[in-house]
This record gives sequence, C-alpha cells and structure tokens, in this order.
Amino acid sequence: MENCLFCKIAAGSIPSDKVYENEELLVFKDIHPAAPVHLLIIPKQHISTLSDCTGTDAGLLGRMLALVPELAVQQGCQVQQDEHGNRQGGFKTLINSGPDGGQEVYHLHLHMIGGPLPWRGQR
Ligand code: AMP
Ligand code: ZN
Repeated sequence: MENCLFCKIAAGSIPSDKVYENEELLVFKDIHPAAPVHLLIIPKQHISTLSDCTGTDAGLLGRMLALVPELAVQQGCQVQQDEHGNRQGGFKTLINSGPDGGQEVYHLHLHMIGGPLPWRGQR
C-alpha cells in the first residue's frame, strides 16, 4: 500500500526497532511507549482496520494474539507466580479501530503494553 506507514516499516523503507519477525508478522517497539514494554504486532500484508476483517482473517488474528505470550517472555513481562502463589508481571493487548476507537494508523496493529507499573496515565 502506497503511503501506509506500517507497510513502509514492514518493507524496511522506514526504520523500526524490530523485536520479532516471521513470514507473516512483524513486531516492533512503539515510538511513543505508554509503558516500559510497548510493542506493535502487525501483519506484513496490508489490512486497514479490524473493522475490515471477516472469518477468513481468523487464522491471522489468532496468530497475532498467540504470539503475545512468547513476546511477553522475551520482554520479561509474562505473568508469573512467586513462591507464595501471588501473580506478578503482566500486560494489556489492544486494537484501536476507527476514529471513535482512537485508531491513528490505518494498518491493522495489536498493541502489547506491559512491564512494571506505573505506566503513563495509569497507577
Ligand atoms: P493507534 O492509535 O492504535 O493507531 O496507534 C498507532 C501507534 O503507532 C501509536 O501508539 C504511535 O505511537 C505508533 N507509531 C506511530 N508512528 C510510529 C513509528 N514510526 N514507529 C513506531 N510506532 C509508531
Ligand atoms: Zn499498510
């Protein structure tokens, strides 16, 4: 897609801080991180918005989400239990969709936001 920022990042014509890549997906650091860990998971293929997705995209969407636990381990923000059984760590996943959903870049992307609190704008 011409003039799509994330297509240009996927093609390597605009630099990004890549943390993971396979044939289908690319993961890079958000340029304005909202938390100690803030990654964007994108399909290399251009899809504008989640609102354009249908059942035929279920596999792709599932693989985007299923990558998150592996990324969490890589980034050190996986959910773990300490010796008392208390859970620690964690992250949020988010897909902003459309103007009312706060989407700024019209290439499908899954935010993974995590790491130790406090996060920007949160406790
Ligand atoms: P959204 O509001 O869900 O469309 O989020 C777009 C995200 O892309 C924002 O969190 C931006 O900080 C991020 N972003 C914009 N440009 C870049 C870039 N060149 N490299 C990395 N992240 C970017
Ligand atoms: Zn694109």
